[in-house]
Amino acid sequence: MGIGIKEQIKELETKALKDLDEAKDAAALERFRITYLGKKGLVTGLMRTLGKLPAAERPEAGKQANELKKRLAERFEQRKKEIEGDGAKVFRGIDVTLPGRKPELGHLHPITQTIQDICDIFQRMGFRIVKGPNVELDYYNFEALNIPKDHPARDMQDTFYISDKILLRTHTSPIQIRVMEAQKPPVSIIAPGKVYRRDSDVSHTPMFHQIEGLLVDRGVSFADLKGTLVSFVHQMFGKRTEVRFRPSFFPFTEPSAEVDIQCVLCSGSGCRTCGHTGWLEILGSGMVDPAVYGFVDYDPEVYTGFAFGMGVERIAMLRYGIDDIQMFFKNEMRFLRQF
Ligand SMILES: [Zn+2]
Repeated sequence: MGIGIKEQIKELETKALKDLDEAKDAAALERFRITYLGKKGLVTGLMRTLGKLPAAERPEAGKQANELKKRLAERFEQRKKEIEGDGAKVFRGIDVTLPGRKPELGHLHPITQTIQDICDIFQRMGFRIVKGPNVELDYYNFEALNIPKDHPARDMQDTFYISDKILLRTHTSPIQIRVMEAQKPPVSIIAPGKVYRRDSDVSHTPMFHQIEGLLVDRGVSFADLKGTLVSFVHQMFGKRTEVRFRPSFFPFTEPSAEVDIQCVLCSGSGCRTCGHTGWLEILGSGMVDPAVYGFVDYDPEVYTGFAFGMGVERIAMLRYGIDDIQMFFKNEMRFLRQF
């Protein structure tokens, strides 16, 4: 066989292997395949020239050309695997070796956090969490809480009525009645939930959150009420927080007291938030009025108890130093990210 063809094969192989080594991605590999191994490629082209060789040389030259094609095809497959292996690192334009982007973790809304923290404190004291309906009967919202029709307390609460007898609850107190109807004492519950009133300004929103507490058993006294609520304040606002009980009126408790804490902003010296009194009102409380027991068939001669209720937004505003209640409901990310 002629020296010419042998050298041509050798030359072609050297160039092909060099090109193959330089191919760094799938596109370069495909270009290589077309250039060398394709139907119109260089190897095929070389094989076509074999027919012009003298007949005696053709078999040997043909064999060598075939072997070249086989070697290049094997080397091509090998290189393809190497590049696909790298593809695990550089895949469709995404470099997976770059440091990852951290997913943004959300957190609970400050109102939800406050509800959970308050409930946790009372749960540790043995109170059980219960919930009640937002759409409530007039009977549970007013009547059974000793607030009959024409009672002045109904004026205090501008109510969203759905019909004569159905309304959006104006407080979480109806849950007390539902629980006492369903079970005999001892009762110790904490009831968080949304409440609704026709009211909207910097300190009022038409929907807000309350937490109601109720404890009824034999021999429960006002001292138990005070001890429970002072303990709550100390756990919520710190052990050194001063607490005072101020006589008040609620239709479903007698006697009743409002609970004030020393202003968390000025520590009692007086500021705009506390109206320069040094005190902040945070909840209402009292001994359950015996008239209420009449509605749930408890014997007021045997059982006594206390109830309390607080506005969650109010507590959260004091806790986080926020002066506009509307901020809780605007869902502005800049505001919410602070918590
Ligand atoms: Zn103050």
